[in-house]
Amino acid sequence: MAFENTLAFAQQLDQQDILKSFRSRFHFPQRNGKDAVYFTGNSLGLQPKNVKDGVLQALAEWETLAVGGYFGGSHPWMDYHLEVAPTLAKLMGAKEHEVVAMNQLTINIHLLFASFYKPTATRYKIICEAKAFPSDQYALETQVQLHGLKAEDVIIEIAPKPGEQIIHTKDIVELIQQHGESVAVVFIGGVNYYTGQFFDLQAITAAAHSVGAYAGYDLAHAAGNVNLQLHNWEVDFAAWCTYKYLNSGPGAIGGVYVHEQFATDPAFPRLAGWWGYDKATRFLMDKGFKAIPTVEGWQMSISPLLSMAIHKASLQLFEEAGIDNLHAKREKMSAFLHFILADINNSLPEKIIEVITPANEAERGCQVSIHMLRDGKKVFDALMAEGVVADWREPNVIRLAPVPLYNTYEEVWVFGNIIRQITATLF
Ligand SMILES: *Cc1c(COP(=O)(O)O)cnc(C)c1O
Repeated sequence: MAFENTLAFAQQLDQQDILKSFRSRFHFPQRNGKDAVYFTGNSLGLQPKNVKDGVLQALAEWETLAVGGYFGGSHPWMDYHLEVAPTLAKLMGAKEHEVVAMNQLTINIHLLFASFYKPTATRYKIICEAKAFPSDQYALETQVQLHGLKAEDVIIEIAPKPGEQIIHTKDIVELIQQHGESVAVVFIGGVNYYTGQFFDLQAITAAAHSVGAYAGYDLAHAAGNVNLQLHNWEVDFAAWCTYKYLNSGPGAIGGVYVHEQFATDPAFPRLAGWWGYDKATRFLMDKGFKAIPTVEGWQMSISPLLSMAIHKASLQLFEEAGIDNLHAKREKMSAFLHFILADINNSLPEKIIEVITPANEAERGCQVSIHMLRDGKKVFDALMAEGVVADWREPNVIRLAPVPLYNTYEEVWVFGNIIRQITATLF
């Protein structure tokens, strides 16, 4: 569609937006006496207003039912995790018995590596992206050490080519083929937290399988953002956090996906706890672990009720909005932002903004990362002063994530207008 860089045009897009009413269902931080332009949903999603009632309801059940809440009440806590599975399955493109909300992200990466990383003398390498999120780096490095191996012998990192910002799928596939049967696991962030690049998970998974390796993904920046089809892509395992695009609060419960060929196999190796034990006989408290024949068999401890209550309330909004509608609005809003940035560059005597997120719609989600070719900090400080909440990464990158549930086209225009005004004074 043909965009225009005007307030009236942005407002017109908002009027036509079938999801416009969802904005009023979130709490916004205040800046200069009004709602902030909150473009940091990729870091910590805003609080949905229905969360408070969800938590109060959970507290009331604990208050009145006490231990009876595990089996009684309107949402027995025994199976509280099953209440979020249908929406998680839709968001992940998975079957319900392939997804479970449990623990937190880094812990879940460790648990999944305990299951899927089984190095032998000939198959032991892990392929991942260079400069992965630090927690992922530490998880892989220490997993390797637990097996008595050295990270430098085992972890193969793929970086962008010199002078480039993104990693080409072709290069990842070639690297996997080059290391062939020495590769045990390919583990990549589905959407890179820095550049916003959404990798071709289907192609990478196929390449991993072609050499007999497993393919797993950290979906921290993908969950609730991009269109995922984990089951059909035959992804083996994945984990994500829920406080970013899934708006479930700081330190919220994480989630895990395990493909059904492993999830339904109680003999598949894992680290176990009683909450993953066969439900019919769990309370016989017998010796010898018997896994639930679904991904629930990876659960260890009782679900944290309050975190689950928040997660459930938040996911309710994704159900109401419709996941396809959210994808459609995300694509359009992101295209509008790319258009506005290009328009600003074109209006200046020299290019000042380099968008490092891929231009190709299939290779990105909400996030747009911009590399400021000069005066980055000045531009960022002006944005913050005007009430835009964005994210600054050294040395010169601003990350923005307009999200379809609560951001508007007008906010995208306002953001661009601030940049246009400040950059005009730089020449
Ligand atoms: C946000 C994020 C994390 C954070 O891990 P926690 O265990 O939730 O603290 C890890 N990895 C990636 C890629 C992230 O984006």
